[in-house]
Amino acid sequence: MRNSLAPLFIIAVLAVSALVGSQGADEKTTAIAVVKTPPFAGGNRYYVSNRAPLLPSPLVKLPIGSIEPKGWLLGQLRLMRDGFTGRLAEISRFLKDDSGWITLKGKGWEEMPYWLKGYGDLGYVLKDKEIISKAKRWLELALESQQSDGYFGPVDNRENHDLWPNMVMLFALRSYHEATGDARVLSFMTRYFRYEKDIPDGELLPGSWQKLRGGDNLEVVYWLYNRTGESFLLDLGRRLHERTSDWTSSVLSDQRDKNWEESSFYHGVNITMGIREPGIYYQQAKDGTLIDALEANYKRIMEAYGRQPGGMFGADENIRPGYQDPRQGAETCSMVEFMSSFESLLKITGAAGYADRCEEIAFNSLPASMTPDLKGLHYLTAPNLISCDSTGEHDFQNGGTLVSYDPWSYRCCQHNVAFGWPYFAEHLWMGTSDDGLAAALFAPSTVTARVGDGAEVRISEDTAYPFGDVIDFTMGTAKPVEFPFYLRIPSWWDGGSVSLNGEALEANPRPGEYLVIRRKWKEGDRLRIEFRPQIMVQTWPTISNSVSVRRGPLWYSLKIGEQWRRYGGTDEWPALELLPTTAWNYGLDVDPLDPAATIRIESRKEPIDQPFEPEASPIVLKAKARKIPSWTAEGRMVGKLPPGPVAADVAVEEITLIPMGCARLRISSFPLVKK
Ligand SMILES: [Zn+2]
Repeated sequence: MRNSLAPLFIIAVLAVSALVGSQGADEKTTAIAVVKTPPFAGGNRYYVSNRAPLLPSPLVKLPIGSIEPKGWLLGQLRLMRDGFTGRLAEISRFLKDDSGWITLKGKGWEEMPYWLKGYGDLGYVLKDKEIISKAKRWLELALESQQSDGYFGPVDNRENHDLWPNMVMLFALRSYHEATGDARVLSFMTRYFRYEKDIPDGELLPGSWQKLRGGDNLEVVYWLYNRTGESFLLDLGRRLHERTSDWTSSVLSDQRDKNWEESSFYHGVNITMGIREPGIYYQQAKDGTLIDALEANYKRIMEAYGRQPGGMFGADENIRPGYQDPRQGAETCSMVEFMSSFESLLKITGAAGYADRCEEIAFNSLPASMTPDLKGLHYLTAPNLISCDSTGEHDFQNGGTLVSYDPWSYRCCQHNVAFGWPYFAEHLWMGTSDDGLAAALFAPSTVTARVGDGAEVRISEDTAYPFGDVIDFTMGTAKPVEFPFYLRIPSWWDGGSVSLNGEALEANPRPGEYLVIRRKWKEGDRLRIEFRPQIMVQTWPTISNSVSVRRGPLWYSLKIGEQWRRYGGTDEWPALELLPTTAWNYGLDVDPLDPAATIRIESRKEPIDQPFEPEASPIVLKAKARKIPSWTAEGRMVGKLPPGPVAADVAVEEITLIPMGCARLRISSFPLVKK
């Protein structure tokens, strides 16, 4: 049985195919359909799609710069610019003039490319001249470093047969080409991949991180093939797949459970990156069992370690057998890498479920990994986290400070976090193989793209989503143009409406699929989708029967009083602890089958530029709860969830729940109170 996310080669119109009467005498009719994915056949005429014999692309990435974020998403990107991504060179020892990426002699590993991969994209998305110019300095250094046999970058990596840092740099160069069209990138990559082609098997991805992460290399090989069509790239692609660790077999095993500390397969960041490798190779192999295999691994991992809100799984360095509850953290690198994997799989398969997974992490987990001003971050974020202090009084695999917000101490995450929001913004809209557009991820934005017969349209997406329940798409076009508009229907869809120019469309959207509206679009046409998400309570039977509150794309956490305290750093770049000032040990007094009886929306407001903090929460819920006196802290860590339902012979209180992404101190999985 195929997994529901597996793509279909032949797209069936599944539920509805209707013609809606025109609203004006001169208008063409509007055809509406529901499809699992955009079609694979065809090929977008205006944007680079997969080239034969690769699997045709149902969704095609638009050139960077086509999508302009607005509202709260623009707010995040501007905070990045003014915070640790835009100004990282001030504080990172890896971005100084003794970097191996400058001298080519000393050490130059993943850190600079990690940062540049996001920093450059931040500049292209914001069209920020200063960032673009500063990024170009590092890109030029990489281009200039190329040797006669095609190798580039620091020689230490070459001597260690370590391709990993260059894989990251290839992403930075890919974006640079997409944003500028600089043709040097294509010849540079061609020479580099010829160098890779000539590496003997025994020295190609011999071990260590690169072996787990070969899918990243493979992704850029296909990107180049689509632009040059050189067949040696497909041979290289096959070899890279064969030399990369096997991500088609079960990631979890008894043997790895025994050696969890040593297993690279149990490292959270490796999993969030590696899991997509079979999906990348699927473009060449066209074997649906590859998608089945990666889906089976996703399911295994999430069922064992991801029974918690926020889209992540517990791996506070590695997965630790027996540590499955929501106080286990996920590394910030894991969040942005998991998001990126789902963005890639969304493009390759067209399956809308990957957009849901990406949004869940972006809206619920990622924001809490950083201070509201995006000047500090921490290594680990957990759904239940009651103290972001600098002590080691937490039960994590690593010792030392892991949850305090410190711009100085988290080497990889500090650099790698840079690409999270820019990549998210770049994948909001995508071209389709039938020369249409898909609204794939949702956030306030404007897209400019060529569609239909080649006309350029400019669509404004106005919304407070994920905090608001309405999205308005307004068409801007110089002349009427016919094309299909693919509207993603989230998997949590439980009713709502879609209207065009104020008239309800006779559509019957299915969760996790797309509504396709094909018509001759004209200036000012307004498509509106209105969600009607209900407050839901998710029970986690294997996690002490705990419960979590969800409404649409957002999970909700207990609002805990915050005390920020500086413990290090500088005035400009402080290292901060975040400590609780109010009680956190509440169980929810709720009937999971009837949440509305005890949980209600108290207030709503428009999101500001930085909505991800407690006082700015655009939605606030109130819920009935009781304190659980026996549920206490273990050191600075929240105690294990008591097995529920829990008897609580104390008075009912009304507690405040805020979106999980707004809560850096948080209880997101609650004990269930016994009736
Ligand atoms: Zn990291």
